[in-house]
Amino acid sequence: MDFFKGVTGLYFALGVLASALVLEAIMPWRRGVKISLARWARNASMGFYSLILLGLLPLLSTYGGALIAQAHGFGVFNQITAPFWVTALAAIIAFDLTAYGVHRSLHKWYFLWRTHRTHHGDAHVDATTSLRFHPFEVLIRAIIDLPAVFLLGLPAEAIVVNFVALALVNTFTHTNIALAPAVERVVSRVFVTPHIHRLHHSAAPEHLDTNLGTIFSLWDQMFGTFTPSNHLREDEIFGMEGPEAITPDSFANLALDPFRKPDHAAIPKPAPMPLTTDETKYP
Ligand SMILES: [Zn+2]
Repeated sequence: MDFFKGVTGLYFALGVLASALVLEAIMPWRRGVKISLARWARNASMGFYSLILLGLLPLLSTYGGALIAQAHGFGVFNQITAPFWVTALAAIIAFDLTAYGVHRSLHKWYFLWRTHRTHHGDAHVDATTSLRFHPFEVLIRAIIDLPAVFLLGLPAEAIVVNFVALALVNTFTHTNIALAPAVERVVSRVFVTPHIHRLHHSAAPEHLDTNLGTIFSLWDQMFGTFTPSNHLREDEIFGMEGPEAITPDSFANLALDPFRKPDHAAIPKPAPMPLTTDETKYP
């Protein structure tokens, strides 16, 4: 697939990121956030760090797995004939459900949380936060996705469609913009919106372990981890506080963060917020 050869995929991801940054400048949700090029560079450096690590391990990628499954006839879709859109939709749904389970585990177990804490340590949430993942977390997610590739026999082209969907959604849900309140109410019942994901980046323990979905908010609603977007406060504080905070927020500290176990460290344990029907408080 040409998309993953050369730098086409990289150009696409950079184009999406640049568009998101322009949108943030034109129609920000939170106004007056000072642009810190140093922070943007730190977040981007984590993205490149992950890219290099995964680039060195191509057989661990879902794309490589799909090629192997295809060559050996492994999995459902390598045994039956199905339209391409069915395989692409199956890829998006299967990987999004897996991502929900992995994300929940990353928040539940401390040894996994130490790889995911890097992402939550960002004091602001904007499009560059979508790059700020520790490569260990990216590696965990890639390995956990592999059984779905082999069981379903997903074609490599469907993996590319999922990559495109993920790049768009991951950037969009971190972008410092807001949907119109009426649109937010409808869309957030099925999909993750910037408000829904912003709640997940809150420093407030009652929000941190909720809204774990990547593309669909349906998983959170099905499994009881959903916080509606009308709980988001205009002055919501983002990032980590206390011993879990990454200080100073430098590339070295981000890269080495999984090896840090601070005294009295613990994942803040929230009581999930109850579902509310109060739709009047959208910020
Ligand atoms: Zn998280």
